[in-house]
Amino acid sequence: MRLVDVLVIGAGQAGLSAAYHLQHRGFTPATRAGRADRTFIVLDAEQAPGGAWQHRWPSLKMGTVNGIHQLPGFAVPPAHPDASSRDVLPDYFADYEERFALDVQRPVRVHTVRGATPQDGAETRLIAETDSGPWAARYVINATGTWTRPFWPYYPGMENFRGRHLHVRDYVSADEFAGQRVVIVGAGVSATQLLEEISRVADTFWVTRTEPEWLDDLSDADLSAAVARVEERVRQGLPAQSVVRVTGMYRAPWVRRAEERGVLVRHPMFTRIEERGVRMPDGSFEPADVILWATGFRAELAHLAPLELRTPQGGIRVANGRSLDEPRLFLIGYGPSQSTVGANRAGRDAVLAILDDPALAEKHAIPA
Ligand code: FAD
Repeated sequence: MRLVDVLVIGAGQAGLSAAYHLQHRGFTPATRAGRADRTFIVLDAEQAPGGAWQHRWPSLKMGTVNGIHQLPGFAVPPAHPDASSRDVLPDYFADYEERFALDVQRPVRVHTVRGATPQDGAETRLIAETDSGPWAARYVINATGTWTRPFWPYYPGMENFRGRHLHVRDYVSADEFAGQRVVIVGAGVSATQLLEEISRVADTFWVTRTEPEWLDDLSDADLSAAVARVEERVRQGLPAQSVVRVTGMYRAPWVRRAEERGVLVRHPMFTRIEERGVRMPDGSFEPADVILWATGFRAELAHLAPLELRTPQGGIRVANGRSLDEPRLFLIGYGPSQSTVGANRAGRDAVLAILDDPALAEKHAIPA
């Protein structure tokens, strides 16, 4: 059993922010620490640096991402707006890890996190079972993102569809839909971006559950109010929602372009899926070759199941990035911190909370 003070799971924006703040406040990667050091380790399931950015679709350019907040202490290098985010950002993350010698261990997947038993001989710790063996940590900072949990709602008849279903997670390029009829489901940023893109080569039909609320401007006050709403939801143990979902849809340049070209035409959600298309609430039929589900992602938390933190509503009770029911656990990049700026702050705040914890102070009061 390897012992560590802080185990960080995931090396996306959130995990690297936590690692940076640990390093800058005197923690050393466990792989090169002496006995007296405060230690941390970052485990990441990917083959390479970049978190989810390395998997985004190629047409998500630096000029069309939603705004990337730099990781703490090192600016994103200037990039052409047409450069693909999946090329620029993983390189930036790789440089970042190297620059600050964060010593991320990969590919290492954490399968479960549980409380230690007397047999583990590390009673006050959390035990992470991983691909490379167990770690016993005083604190776990969970930063596992959402990319690995694409959300597909169920609609009757879904299994009978003869065309192609795909989630935006598997989208590569509009060219593969040239000349086809594509039903796009979803009201978020991805749905509208891909609608604008795909409608240039295919016939698109856009459906959403509710009429999107369009905003011409998004003030700081609107954003703060949205963050506060999401914060309150996760405090109550309701499923986390992204801030973007609460703010309403900003009329971004691609939205305006789609409007100008007359393709931003919203229809209500279909009621069932048939072999060759979808049935609308008024009984009419819309043919489809492809159904593209731009229906979002859920937090990747399956490995935390042994801690039994799920509420009956399906969330985990979290306040200020810390589990209310398991104070040794932090969840960052979760709920209100599910953005590059939110993930940065949550990484810092988790480290500050750990430094404030009397348990850690006690450990280091004892000479090694
Ligand atoms: P990730 O980048 O997903 O990193 C999580 C890491 O954890 C991954 O490397 C993963 O492999 C690893 N991991 C997962 N499970 C395990 C496990 N069990 N064991 C070990 N490792 C594990 N936000 C913005 O602010 N601006 C944008 O422009 C923007 N664009 C977006 C576009 C899309 C299409 C999507 C889906 C989201 C976008 N977001 C954007 C939100 C974005 O997801 C966050 O801002 C941020 O990049 C997420 O960082 P993260 O560290 O939480 O997650």
